[in-house]
Amino acid sequence: MALLSAPSASVLRWLLPSATVVFAFALAGVVFLPEDSPSPPGATIQTGIPAPEARIPLVAGEGADWTPVAGFDAVASLPDPAPPLAAAPMRLAPATRIREQVEIRRGDTLLKILLRLGVSRAQAHEAIASLEKVYDPRRLRPGQYLTVELERLRSEENRLRLAGLSLPVGFEKRVRLARSEGGVFEAATIERPLLRRPALASGSIDGSLYRAARAVGVPGEVLAEVVRLFSWDIDFQRDIQPGDRFAILYEEILSADRRQRRGGEILYAAFDLGGEPLTAYRFTRSDGTVGYYDRAGRSVRKSLMRTPVDGARLSSRFGKRRHPVLGYTRMHKGVDFAAPRGTPIYAAGDGTVIFAGRNKGYGNYVRIRHNGTYTTAYAHMQRIAEGIRRGVRVRQGQVIGYVGSTGLVTGPHLHYEVLRDGRQVNPLKLRQVAADELQGAERAAFGRRVAEIEALRTRLARERLIAENAAE
Ligand SMILES: [Zn+2]
Repeated sequence: MALLSAPSASVLRWLLPSATVVFAFALAGVVFLPEDSPSPPGATIQTGIPAPEARIPLVAGEGADWTPVAGFDAVASLPDPAPPLAAAPMRLAPATRIREQVEIRRGDTLLKILLRLGVSRAQAHEAIASLEKVYDPRRLRPGQYLTVELERLRSEENRLRLAGLSLPVGFEKRVRLARSEGGVFEAATIERPLLRRPALASGSIDGSLYRAARAVGVPGEVLAEVVRLFSWDIDFQRDIQPGDRFAILYEEILSADRRQRRGGEILYAAFDLGGEPLTAYRFTRSDGTVGYYDRAGRSVRKSLMRTPVDGARLSSRFGKRRHPVLGYTRMHKGVDFAAPRGTPIYAAGDGTVIFAGRNKGYGNYVRIRHNGTYTTAYAHMQRIAEGIRRGVRVRQGQVIGYVGSTGLVTGPHLHYEVLRDGRQVNPLKLRQVAADELQGAERAAFGRRVAEIEALRTRLARERLIAENAAE
């Protein structure tokens, strides 16, 4: 880990004085960096998410690393610059092209920016009206960049004319406005080419998994998915000890200029919690469904989550106990997780809501039917999430309500029940629920897939080692 973090830190330190300002916007881990500008070496980040440039390459070599992973549709490495915005220059008006890279500042509007650049008010209005057909310029946010192209018309006393403009919209699109040959502005939304490559991140967990994973560049959405994937086998609040290790092999998606990136599919993830390592390999079954399986071909995603709430403390176990409010001993038919009021509660598995509302001592209560055998129940909610009502389908991990203290309770907690054939069972003992297991030809195909992923993982690890040694 030290090998990974040290060079990034030095790059950052080097950068700070000259920092070309960079815009960070909260689209789930997507880093926005100005595009189309002459890139200073390693222009970077204010998000804490290492930009690709500031990171030790997970794959050695520049440009030669786009080995498509089987099953990924790798996109060719196309440049994503701003090609000339306007159509062919007009022959009769010899002009000097000026390209301006503009950062949106607080209080800016597109109109103000264009006027500031010397565009006439009439032309600015014309351009904005045209742009509005595909993009609402009020969506521009401080820190965002746009490229404006101007022409200085020598024939008209060096008057400035707007030739076009371009700006990235999210990760996958760019809006471009260009003056056509007829002199009319035309706006269009263009797909930005994306690059995909496999990335391997690993490390040991000293504080939180979140910090450890982000420190080695794992995008937030990838990490969230990994946590979801293992939420049955690992209790992330309690099972993780200092020194436990993780590895994640995922698809990294970059804008063609490599200034923005985000996570794609997870190919492989593993945790070594001081015992038998837990692994998950992505595999597409013959019917097209995608799942994650351990080395033996057993589904990693079990039917239900053991702890359907984050950051909670197990405050009361399943079994006989003295009831805190009623005062006499009786069976506690679920487990209690103490958590701050308002903490989101997740559906423990895919299923259908069969009850959502007030339920006597249970307070605000939701019950979900997962299959013919299992239902789960969630009690004492502060409130039930919007849209959660009888008959609604929910996905595993979907927020169904918020921790509260409605009903017969002393303090905010989630009372969670798992019912097998209508009878409460101990959710903490559900580990043994038979997992879906690959059989026959599918099992064989899975074996081949595991070998491919392992080969890729080995190659990436070796290349990273070489890169790290070279950096020393
Ligand atoms: Zn309880």
